[in-house]
Amino acid sequence: MRKALITGVTGQDGAYLSQFLLSKGYHVLGLLRRSASSDVIGARLSWLGVLDQIEMVDGDLQDLSSLIRILADHKPDEVYNLAAQSFVATSWQQPLLTGQVTGIGAGHVLEAVRIAHPQARFYQASSSEMFGKIQQDKQSESTPFYPRSPYAVAKLYAHWLTVNYRESFGLHASSGILFNHESPLRGIEFVTRRITDGVARIKLGLADELPLGNLSATRDWGHARDYVKAMWMMLQQDVADDYVIATGVTTSVKDFCDIAFSHAGLRAVDYVKVDPGRMRPAEVDVLLGDPGKAEAKMGWKAEVGLAQLAAEMVDADIARHRAKIK
Ligand code: NDP
Ligand code: GDP
Repeated sequence: MRKALITGVTGQDGAYLSQFLLSKGYHVLGLLRRSASSDVIGARLSWLGVLDQIEMVDGDLQDLSSLIRILADHKPDEVYNLAAQSFVATSWQQPLLTGQVTGIGAGHVLEAVRIAHPQARFYQASSSEMFGKIQQDKQSESTPFYPRSPYAVAKLYAHWLTVNYRESFGLHASSGILFNHESPLRGIEFVTRRITDGVARIKLGLADELPLGNLSATRDWGHARDYVKAMWMMLQQDVADDYVIATGVTTSVKDFCDIAFSHAGLRAVDYVKVDPGRMRPAEVDVLLGDPGKAEAKMGWKAEVGLAQLAAEMVDADIARHRAKIK
């Protein structure tokens, strides 16, 4: 039985990746950091019905010794480093913590692999945020980076360290440059989920407006379920490499609002309010990925379109709020 270690197992992607790997017959190990709220920490995995099938191992991305111990004890075939302080806006409030976890933390995982189990195949969760102030209209693996937040700077360090460990030590280490991907399990602070949760609350009479920040930013949004499959595909390649994973379509925040509100029979213009306090110190205006290499080399293609994604998210949020008010 193949064994995979997932850091960030309690997050959105960790949950979908766990479900995917279990369906392929893997033994899934999840890195779990100690929390005083351990009763709610597995909520996403429970939602997908897979919590009981995962072996949790106690560790933290900031604690190198815990990672070395886990790699030495369990010798997983594959290591997926998904753990991060992943919210861009928070990275201006906690820039150094973001650097420690999102940047240096990836270095800890790479060091643990190198020291304790260099045969493991390694995946790094890199981000389209590294393109930031875009240098090409459509961003591919060869587009120069220009990070625009402490989060993106930290991700860039982790990305280049992954490339460097592949080139220096021969590790099978791949970096997936994933564009934004969403689902009903997306963190509530991210804009798509904030919108679908807002639509649900307005629809059920629990709120009468939705304050947002920059409506003109555009993102290349896909479904997390499609994107975790790409992570696994990267680790099945004979030679490790870096891949952009995206849909190739970009949509504004405003247009996402229109799609999500209209799915619930509402008009966004009646409820969305611009709150200047939600603007960021530096903005990433446009992201649009070119997934050509992933399609040509791995046969990967996004399957879920934006309308279907938004509908799934709105329906899930309405169901959640209905269950609470019953
Ligand atoms: P989430 O924010 O949902 O999950 C982050 C995970 O990291 C959680 O499991 C969290 O644990 C864990 N974590 C945070 N700090 C530590 C730490 N010190 N030690 C151990 N675990 C820690 O992220 P997503 O699932 O959305 O994203 C997965 C990865 O992909 C992240 O690295 C993200 O930056 C990256 N990414 C995501 C994109 C997206 O659109 N979703 C796009 C491109 C990259 P806890 O539950 O305890 O907080
Ligand atoms: P990001 O691409 O990782 O920063 O993902 P987010 O979902 O957090 O933000 C996507 C875009 O939506 C950014 O350009 C934000 O400035 C914009 N945005 C507009 N209003 C909001 C809001 O209320 N919350 C968040 N999170 N983003 C917003």
